[in-house]
Amino acid sequence: MNLKSNLRIGVLGLQGAVKEHLDMLEGCGCNAVDVRKVGDLQGLDGLIIPGGESTTIGKLMERYGFDVEIKRRVGEGMAVFGTCAGLILLAKDIVGSSQARLGFMDIHVRRNAFGRQVESFEADLDIPAIGAEPFRAVFIRAPYIESVEPGVEVLARFDGKIVMAREGRFLVSAFHPELTRDKRIHEYFIEKVVSG
Ligand code: GLN
Repeated sequence: MNLKSNLRIGVLGLQGAVKEHLDMLEGCGCNAVDVRKVGDLQGLDGLIIPGGESTTIGKLMERYGFDVEIKRRVGEGMAVFGTCAGLILLAKDIVGSSQARLGFMDIHVRRNAFGRQVESFEADLDIPAIGAEPFRAVFIRAPYIESVEPGVEVLARFDGKIVMAREGRFLVSAFHPELTRDKRIHEYFIEKVVSG
């Protein structure tokens, strides 16, 4: 029996790069759920908060009550993976911003942190947790993690900056792993963070 086929993983479908994550999850053999209503969070083993605009996603989450229900489901053991804007929304501290957030992870995050000259770029990252092969990462107006508190595991850096981290059932990446064909980061979330 394939364990993954029993897992239900949602993608918060309020705004941003939703479809690509759903396709990736299906490619990994999970039940992928497009989360459009608060009730869609019921029964999920994991949730992906996609890239997009973190201020917009944060506002919509509050307006429709997703924030409250996501926190309740996390209390029941749901794992969460935030990519790019999703990373920002998972941080306790967003440098210089009071925008709405979930604040699950003890990380200090800076938005649009790589500067205007490098709005978007690709880079090969060493991510030992997913294997020896470098991962081709796509960064789009990306944040980075300035620093982490104890208990947060740094999984990847680019140019010395922290761009992927894990704290228990929470995973974040500053880049967009759904925009490549490489499934290893989604597999890591499913196998290690959701099932681990
Ligand atoms: N710059 C966006 C923000 O601050 C994030 C960009 C992205 O998700 N690709 O929310």
